[in-house]
Amino acid sequence: MDEKNIKGLTLPELENWVAEIGESPFRAKQIYRWMYQRGVRSFEEMSDLSKSLRNKLAQMASVSMLQIDTRFRSKTDQSVKYLFRLSDGNAVEAVYMVEGKRITLCLSTMVGCPVGCAYCATGIMGFKRNLTAGEIVDQLLLIQQDQQKKATNIVFMGMGEPFLNYDNVIKAASILNSELGQEIAARRIIISTAGIIPAIHRFADEGHRFKLAISLNASTDAQRDELVPVNLKHPLWELMAAVKYYTDRSKRRVTFEYILIKDFNDTPQDARRLIKMLGQIPCKLNIIPYNQNEFLLYKTPSEDKLNNFLKDLYQAPFAVTVRRSKGLDIAAACGQLYIRDKSKI
Ligand code: SF4
Repeated sequence: MDEKNIKGLTLPELENWVAEIGESPFRAKQIYRWMYQRGVRSFEEMSDLSKSLRNKLAQMASVSMLQIDTRFRSKTDQSVKYLFRLSDGNAVEAVYMVEGKRITLCLSTMVGCPVGCAYCATGIMGFKRNLTAGEIVDQLLLIQQDQQKKATNIVFMGMGEPFLNYDNVIKAASILNSELGQEIAARRIIISTAGIIPAIHRFADEGHRFKLAISLNASTDAQRDELVPVNLKHPLWELMAAVKYYTDRSKRRVTFEYILIKDFNDTPQDARRLIKMLGQIPCKLNIIPYNQNEFLLYKTPSEDKLNNFLKDLYQAPFAVTVRRSKGLDIAAACGQLYIRDKSKI
C-alpha cells in the first residue's frame, strides 16, 4: 500500500482505514485523539499503541503535514504571523492573535485564491490549490504547540475562499469542534465567505452550527462589482436572498463584514443604504477600517470618517461593531496576507 497521510480524516473515515489495514476499529479513536487532541506528529509518539502496531502504521502512513518556516512577531501587539511550508513546496500563512483571554487563530484554506477581491493582497497571488482538511487542521496544531497556548476562537479568514473548498473546510471545522479533537465550540468557529451563493444554501441545508460571516464591503452593486468580482455573477439582491434563506433555516444571526475604505464606501448614503439592505436580516455588522498595503491603491479612512460613519449607523436595528485589525506591522491584518518572499511560493 502507498504511504497515505491520514491527517484530515474524520473519525468514521479513520475507522474505515483502520479496518482496511486489518486492525480493530477502536484503534481509530486512539489515533484520532493523538492526532487532533494532542497534536503528535508521528506514530512513534502514540504510546498506548503496541510497538508493533506503531511500526506497522509508520510504514503505511504519516500524520505530519506542515512545517513552520518563519514567524513574524508584531512589535505593536502580541500577534504572530506564521509562514508554513507545505509538503509540495507551496506555502501559506496563518495568524495568531491575542485579546485578553481570547486567543484567535486566523487559518488559511487555499494556497492563493481564485476570487481576486480588489482590496485583498492574497488575490494578487492567483490560485494554486485547495488545502486538505489535514493541512487546515495542522495550522492550528502547530501554532498551539509553538505558543503553548490553546486557541479559543477560529476564523477561516486567511488565504482563500472557504466556500470554494467547502468539503475540506467543513471537515476541518468539524475535527476542531469534535469531542475527541480540540473541542472548540461551534459558535467560536467562524467561516467567512465573499458570497458563494450555492455554498451558502448548502451550509444552511446541512444545518451546521458554525458561525457564518459574509464579506459584504459595499452598499451598491457598482461598488461591490469593483471590490468582489463574484458580485458580477451573484449581485447583492441574490446574496441577500441567500443570506435570508440561511437565517430563516438556521434561526441564527449572520455577521456582515464591511471593510471601510476612504472615499469609497464611507459616506452617509452608504450608511443609509446598509440600514435599508440589512434591516430585515438578523445580523451584526462588523466595520473593519481598511488596512493599506503596498500593492493596492485603496486607503485607510481617518478616525473622524470612521466615527461619522458609526454615527450614521446609530439608528440601525442591528448591532454594529468595529474590528481593529491586529498585526498591521507584520502584514498580518485583514486583506494583507501575501507570500512576500517569492522563494517561499
Ligand atoms: S478577500 Fe478572501 S476571497 Fe477575496 S481574494 Fe482575498 S482571500 Fe480570496
